[in-house]
Amino acid sequence: MKQTEILVVGAGPAGLTAGIYAARSGHKALVLEKSFAGGQMALTSEVENYPGFSEPVSGMLLAQTMEQQAIRFGCDVLNAEATGITAAPAGFEVATTAGPVAAATVIVCSGVKPKLLGVPGEKELSGRGVSYCAVCDGPLFKGREVAVIGGGDSAIDEALYLSNIVARVHIIHRRDEFRACPFAQQRLRERANVTYHLSCVVESVNGTQRVESITVKNLKDASTFVLPLGGAFIYVGWLPNTAWCSSLLALDESGNIKADDRLCTSVPGVFAAGDVRNTPLRQVATAVGDGALAAISAHDFLIGKR
Ligand SMILES: Cc1cc2nc3c(=O)[nH]c(=O)nc-3n(C[C@H](O)[C@H](O)[C@H](O)COP(=O)(O)OP(=O)(O)OC[C@H]3O[C@@H](n4cnc5c(N)ncnc54)[C@H](O)[C@@H]3O)c2cc1C
Repeated sequence: MKQTEILVVGAGPAGLTAGIYAARSGHKALVLEKSFAGGQMALTSEVENYPGFSEPVSGMLLAQTMEQQAIRFGCDVLNAEATGITAAPAGFEVATTAGPVAAATVIVCSGVKPKLLGVPGEKELSGRGVSYCAVCDGPLFKGREVAVIGGGDSAIDEALYLSNIVARVHIIHRRDEFRACPFAQQRLRERANVTYHLSCVVESVNGTQRVESITVKNLKDASTFVLPLGGAFIYVGWLPNTAWCSSLLALDESGNIKADDRLCTSVPGVFAAGDVRNTPLRQVATAVGDGALAAISAHDFLIGKR
């Protein structure tokens, strides 16, 4: 069985930073990643609010650089998915798709996944015009009309990205005002090919083989209308990736892992960092800060144990 002192689950910015700090503290550190290094950050075309870059930087470039930095300090990165966790005499045993891993401490950095809108047609047309990632799928809609559903930072950032590619972006938002950062909102307002549908919700995504239109309801007068378009990009919230560890760790009412100000969870020796925990801000800068603190907390735990 693979053994490590600090096992980090998830190689987003939180997990890669935890790997850097864990390895630099002299520990045997292993980062598990089920898909690709960088997590949500790697899917962001331009990160413009991460300090240290006066110009926007590609999320993929940041991801590759963070991974190389972790590896340079001796951290191992393993492509495998964590599927379960149990307490063991010398710490924890994490079940993974590459076999079990024994670890003295575990740092959970498994991030979040997009929440579904939950309307007819969404699941059926997912991957056939319904998307949760503009950077991944936006270029497929070059010259066409698309909708972005949501009003937070992700929705506005992705609408900005799409407006460079597609003919027109329709923003559908259930409120009158956006939650997104005012600076990004202002940049979007300057784009001529964006149409706003405020106080509106999507009732259904329509199409046989691919998305052909969406049906929208205006919440103010209860009227409905059909918007013909080729794609619907959905950003209505996030669900923490905790299925593999929720039997061991305490979660809050929204399903986030409960962690204190040292990022200790309800189980001594398990820490949580980044988007997956009860955090008030889900950003690269906060994920990175969390990763550093969680690794140092894990280090202190190991020192105290010795
Ligand atoms: C569209 C969009 C745009 C954004 N734009 C910005 C921006 O401009 N600036 C900014 O600061 N932030 C931005 N963010 C937010 C930022 O990307 C996240 O806050 C940040 O990536 C969170 O980092 P994390 O490491 O906690 O989680 P994630 O980045 O989500 O990484 C979690 C990783 O864990 C892996 N994982 C999950 N479950 C398992 C498992 N069981 N086993 C193994 N691996 C697992 C996932 O594959 C993933 O790689 C954006 C987010 C989105 C979605």
